Amino acid sequence: MKQTIATIHASSWINGMATTIGHVDKYMYNPSRLSELVGHLHYANTAQVEEAEAAAHTALKQWKAMTGEARGAVLYQMANKLEEHKDELAQLASREMGKPIKEMTGEVGRGIQLLRYYAGEGVRAHGDVIPSSQHQVLQYKKHVPLGVVGVITPWNFPVAIPIWKIAPALICGNTIVWKPAEQASLSAFRLCEIFKEAGLPDGVINMVLGKGQEVGRFLVEKANIQCLSFTGSTVTGTTIASTCAARNIKYQTEMGGKNAAVVMPSADLKSAAAAIASGAFRSAGQKCTATSRVYVHEDVQDAFLTALKAEMTAVKLRPADDPSCYLGPVASKVQFDHVTDYINMAQTEATVLYENDDTIQEDGYYIRPLIVTGVDNDHPLMTEEIFGPVVVVKTFSSYDEVISFVNASDYGLSGSIFTTTLDEAHRFLDDANIGMVRVNLETAGVEYQAPFGGMKQSSSHTREQGQAALQFFTNVKTCAVKF
Ligand code: ADP
Repeated sequence: MKQTIATIHASSWINGMATTIGHVDKYMYNPSRLSELVGHLHYANTAQVEEAEAAAHTALKQWKAMTGEARGAVLYQMANKLEEHKDELAQLASREMGKPIKEMTGEVGRGIQLLRYYAGEGVRAHGDVIPSSQHQVLQYKKHVPLGVVGVITPWNFPVAIPIWKIAPALICGNTIVWKPAEQASLSAFRLCEIFKEAGLPDGVINMVLGKGQEVGRFLVEKANIQCLSFTGSTVTGTTIASTCAARNIKYQTEMGGKNAAVVMPSADLKSAAAAIASGAFRSAGQKCTATSRVYVHEDVQDAFLTALKAEMTAVKLRPADDPSCYLGPVASKVQFDHVTDYINMAQTEATVLYENDDTIQEDGYYIRPLIVTGVDNDHPLMTEEIFGPVVVVKTFSSYDEVISFVNASDYGLSGSIFTTTLDEAHRFLDDANIGMVRVNLETAGVEYQAPFGGMKQSSSHTREQGQAALQFFTNVKTCAVKF
């Protein structure tokens, strides 16, 4: 039976409570059905950001004094509670930002996995014993909390990205001030309520709603935070990085991608086409790991494009709440206008290889998937992050040529080669200047227990998820003991 969710009012969440709800700053409409009101947002002012940071500092004392096991027990409860609310939260997030419900439910499932993974870290061995140059001195390294962590997140993974920052930060003993994207505010608010219900002590996670330029900026520039973890655009990320560097705050910035897939002559073309279509068009291409450039060897170009077009017949535009939806709307008017500019550019400056003629009755931010070719490597369609259901195809004649194409990008987040030749696979794994490099797998869909991050303009120099996050969210103490 279909569950209905009432329209909700979301505000900031400070010290375990919703803040006073004043006037409405923004009405949120479903991008799948623009007449449907999903919720009301009430933004924080700068005084509330300060209040949130003060609450995080107060809670820090007790939270960091708990054993790792005790903090882990809270994270297990958070996972269990999230599991109870899995469908409800997935529906809310899907109505808020348009991710197909099947993918959104999977994403909440990923959040649960992340909480359980990091809960276990509370009792896992870490640190090193380092031989001393003196007799009877025990010298060792241990990881200690940083303090209050600022977390700034985007709208495209409204549940998984916040949790892949929050869960490791918490298990390491830090407390949090979290600023979610405007387009993901309703699910952020609901997550805070769910975590409180799970027994998370007040003040351990504080959440401030608002515009990036105001609330986010104040958090980065003025708040008393010891660390900042950001995911979003490269423009915002590099500005945040320089502010944090000037304040000597530990930071990580996960930013854009222009991810390439390479199809070699030996590839299994049918499975390559399926992986490339999935990487390019699921979530309407709104993933930083989405496939955006496809380089196909000239000997298999025709056969590959036939296989890719066959895959595209399955890609139907549907409202996000349709359980069969593969490609829903883009998230917002801003996104719609941004992607439409590239679609117009593709239609005038490139050759359209495939345009879906699917029609949809709903009034939403729907963009038909597009496959184009006929542009050089320095064309904006080849260099800029589109973040929509558009993929650009180009042919190549040799491995050396294609690796130079792949590495010409300013970004280096994710990339794939499709081949049945082991030698080509290993060369690509070595040669690609890319953080997450894959063979016969789509560029998206990386796993939570492995390091996540890119090279060049895609990321700063630390990694998220897996064990890497535990390094980021801690400071190192070198201890030496002699009795
Ligand atoms: P996108 O284009 O995906 O919206 P942004 O980088 O603009 O990417 O936004 C990512 C997150 O950063 C959002 O939570 C947004 O509100 C926040 N943000 C935007 N600008 C700033 C800023 N100047 N300082 C801090 N946070 C910001």
